[in-house]
Amino acid sequence: METLIDPFARAISYLRVSVTDRCDFRCTYCMAEHMQFLPKKDLLTLEELDRLCSRFIRLGVGKLRITGGEPLVRKGIMTFFQAMSRHLETGALNELTLTTNGSQLARFAADLAAVGVRRVNVSLDTLDPAKFAAITRWGRLDQVMEGIRAARAAGLRIKINAVALKGFNEDELFTLTDWCAGEGHDLTFIEVMPMGEMGEEMRLDQYWPLKDLRARLAERFTLSDLAERSGGPARYVRINETGQKVGFITPLSHNFCESCNRVRVTCTGELYMCLGQEDMADLRAPLRASADDAPLEQAIRAAIARKPKGHDFDYSRQAVRGQVSRHMSHTGG
Ligand code: SAM
Ligand code: SF4
Repeated sequence: METLIDPFARAISYLRVSVTDRCDFRCTYCMAEHMQFLPKKDLLTLEELDRLCSRFIRLGVGKLRITGGEPLVRKGIMTFFQAMSRHLETGALNELTLTTNGSQLARFAADLAAVGVRRVNVSLDTLDPAKFAAITRWGRLDQVMEGIRAARAAGLRIKINAVALKGFNEDELFTLTDWCAGEGHDLTFIEVMPMGEMGEEMRLDQYWPLKDLRARLAERFTLSDLAERSGGPARYVRINETGQKVGFITPLSHNFCESCNRVRVTCTGELYMCLGQEDMADLRAPLRASADDAPLEQAIRAAIARKPKGHDFDYSRQAVRGQVSRHMSHTGG
């Protein structure tokens, strides 16, 4: 079977799937406090998610990341992980992983490890309980810490993702770095992105360019650039003094699109070929129209043929340009 290659000769090998738009947190940069969630009938069922992911895997996707909203609040989600593990067993899938806020990890870590998940990304922007409560609105730091401990006890490798927020976690740069080094967690900083309608002013206020963050890190440590790329917006450095690897996800200030190997599917089955563009293809209709996967595959191929060369986010000239109206919880971060 022919694998998915886009018009710029990029092989599509990485699929990120959002399994719910719901979440038990309300991070200020991600969601409004009173979110209108989608009616259940609009969401792909677990069976539909299985068909969709399995088709992508047949078409050459080797890495599958489950996200949301908060993926671990989706009812029955372990059934889906269990189902996906069959593709790990056949070797068609190399990696099954997830991005989570960690709140439910204490419950699910052992089950995730049992179905073949090896690594999890846990989003954590601060180690201060009061600041954590403020940024997540509804979250509790101790619950996430317990989840992280459970994940480690289950043998999962942990990568901490921290959104860099000016005036919020600037003062925790070294605390976070030291904590991750001490615990053996990888660490990646994410530049805040202009998603949703959060208000232009607030966004520009919060924007802490990672080149500034990196410069701060370099005041204390010697950093060596690593050649390693993930096919995505992350770049890595090694802290020579500790050997620790630190990632930077800078979708706004770096051009990473030439190596882009990924696409995203929302919880309603919309396939987004680029995080920063509005163009998408509806995969729910072909999924529901026929029990046969031919229309689905056709829709996927037609969409990949339209994958754009790159995106246009730009914070320059004090205006948020190229802004897209979706929230991250919709597209799946
Ligand atoms: N709920 C899970 C979590 O928090 O890890 C998965 C979904 S969340 C949308 C995925 C990632 O997107 C998180 O690391 C979160 O910090 C990040 N994120 C959300 N809104 C963002 C924004 N406006 N800019 C940059 N990153 C954002
Ligand atoms: Fe929920 Fe993740 Fe968005 Fe926070 S970043 S509100 S945890 S989906």
